[in-house]
Amino acid sequence: MYDAIVAGLGPAGSTAAYYLSRAGLNVLGVDKETFPRYKSCGGCVSTKIDGLLDFEISPAVEETVYGASFTYKSERPLDIISDKPVGYNVMRDAFDHLLLEKAREAGAEVIEGVRVRSVEDTGASVKVGLANGDSHEARVLVGADGASGLVGREVFGLRPREAAVSITAEVPLKRESRGYSGRLFIDFGCVPHGYAWIFPKKDFLSVGIAASAQKAGRIKEYFNAFVSSHGALKGLDIGPTAGWTVPVYYEGAPSPVKGRVVLVGDTGHLVEPFLGEGIYYAAYTAKAASSVILDYIGGRAGLQAYPERLEAEILPGFRSALKLSDLVYNHPRLWYGIIERDPQIMQRYYDVIRGMEDCSSFYSWALNKVKSKPWKVLRSWLESRFIPA
Ligand SMILES: Cc1cc2nc3c(=O)[nH]c(=O)nc-3n(C[C@H](O)[C@H](O)[C@H](O)COP(=O)(O)OP(=O)(O)OC[C@H]3O[C@@H](n4cnc5c(N)ncnc54)[C@H](O)[C@@H]3O)c2cc1C
Repeated sequence: MYDAIVAGLGPAGSTAAYYLSRAGLNVLGVDKETFPRYKSCGGCVSTKIDGLLDFEISPAVEETVYGASFTYKSERPLDIISDKPVGYNVMRDAFDHLLLEKAREAGAEVIEGVRVRSVEDTGASVKVGLANGDSHEARVLVGADGASGLVGREVFGLRPREAAVSITAEVPLKRESRGYSGRLFIDFGCVPHGYAWIFPKKDFLSVGIAASAQKAGRIKEYFNAFVSSHGALKGLDIGPTAGWTVPVYYEGAPSPVKGRVVLVGDTGHLVEPFLGEGIYYAAYTAKAASSVILDYIGGRAGLQAYPERLEAEILPGFRSALKLSDLVYNHPRLWYGIIERDPQIMQRYYDVIRGMEDCSSFYSWALNKVKSKPWKVLRSWLESRFIPA
């Protein structure tokens, strides 16, 4: 009998395995892949990760980012660069491997290359069946098996439909051959209800597009149009592409605790819904869940303390991010005009990404700012939707 089994060892699972093992619990982590493994991702981790993890991620960081060069439909370039870092660009194979090794060093037992196939909560324990026929038992199961993960789907009935779809490519381009550094490229308007990006790494540009699964139909066509029009990709061979889901948070998502099963990261739709930031929130939710599990195993609290913590700490911000998405992605031209006229809005949003300001207070501030300017169309639209009479 393990204290905890962790299904999936991406940033969420490895962080949970690390904190649980380090506190002395008997932990088994299982992943269907063998690490290092590829993960389709922009790979930009916000700097707020520095205050979360108690070990260095710098060995996996390939570029420190200070801001972005924005475009609207690949035109009207607008550089908004800060003097302080906003994020770190990583390749997910190396980054996730680093986190997994930390979990292993902390004492977690790890099985790689074997899929979790079944979960049964008997009330007294959780039984986890693996694809190799083995079965293991634990007092708690941490579901960390990513987008459309089995644990979220089958135990909690979470719906992969409530997500964004994406296409990505890793385009070879060495840092020395570029005329820029320390910035992302972000394009609005290139796809309905979504955006496109180019995130520079040491030897690659991670290029991608993501949009609401329900609102963007032909995502591959939008991707092709973006890569053939954006100046930073001129003359480059885009190569093979990968499709993936971004399971953003949605209103009405079920509680991430059921019986002895706890969801962390993507499998629980715990991705910030404006930019699709999920790496930090995978680690954050995993660390929060781990501290609650420690209290639970020690008889000091129930597992319900975990959703209560999420409600107090991150979900109000996610709800404001949903409102921001509604504004930006339904009206990308209007939004772009606003940040062109007042780049300070994005500078302040960088503080939200850095974790120095909550998205809810940013959203209220941005609304007041908009109200004080002569952007009449936008103002009346906002008032009709969000400002109580
Ligand atoms: C195109 C794209 C771009 C993105 N860009 C960014 C970005 O720039 N910055 C950012 O912060 N976030 C980004 N995200 C979101 C980010 O990738 C995720 O939020 C993050 O990977 C979540 O981590 P996780 O550990 O929950 O899931 P994952 O990283 O997906 O890990 C899940 C693990 O579970 C394993 N697994 C799955 N099923 C099973 C099973 N049945 N049994 C055992 N193991 C299993 C998988 O092999 C995997 O290793 C992006 C996502 C996409 C799709």
